[in-house]
Amino acid sequence: MEQNAIGKLIIVSGPSGAGKGTICAELMRQMPDLVMSCSVTTRAPRPNERKDRSYFFVSNETFLEMVRKNELLEYDQHFENYYGTPKKFVEDMLSYGKDVILEIDVKGALQVKQNYPDSILFFIEAPSEQALYERLIKRGSESEDKIQIRMARNKLELAQRYKYDYCILNDDVDRAVGEIIQILKERRI
Ligand code: 5GP
Repeated sequence: MEQNAIGKLIIVSGPSGAGKGTICAELMRQMPDLVMSCSVTTRAPRPNERKDRSYFFVSNETFLEMVRKNELLEYDQHFENYYGTPKKFVEDMLSYGKDVILEIDVKGALQVKQNYPDSILFFIEAPSEQALYERLIKRGSESEDKIQIRMARNKLELAQRYKYDYCILNDDVDRAVGEIIQILKERRI
């Protein structure tokens, strides 16, 4: 399948609270030919999240069944929950020549890069650790304990950013999106 793929995968990773979601939404707005993959997760929806838009929310059993049937392009366990990329949608889109954005964690991104070496990997960084912490608090969806766990994971992910093709500083959303679009144009996406 990878051999014949026409479209490319654009992978966006980075710490919780770095603004990946906002950046992807803006990218989609400015580049309407891109398609966004919707991941499957076993975590509970946040109050502002929409079913089948933010994620496909499924039970542990359903997720593990998808793994067993090889229906996921990649998956990872994150904060006691599973997250994965449905394979069929992505493969179909690539075969139609569409470029697909995946917003996934570092482990998933590196798995995908191995199978799809043409993928373009972006790591989104927040301006500082303090800024990240403040964004997580402002989001209001997690307890202080969970925020601390996310901050610890953020550090681990940050240490792997050198494995990415590009690191983008999200000091300003418009500037960061502009930088990504410029890179994609240079790479003829
Ligand atoms: P959140 O719970 O904040 O929505 O996501 C937690 C982490 O899981 C984020 O780093 C997000 O990028 C990652 N994530 C979301 N979907 C997927 C996926 O399909 N696969 C992998 N490997 N990570 C994902």
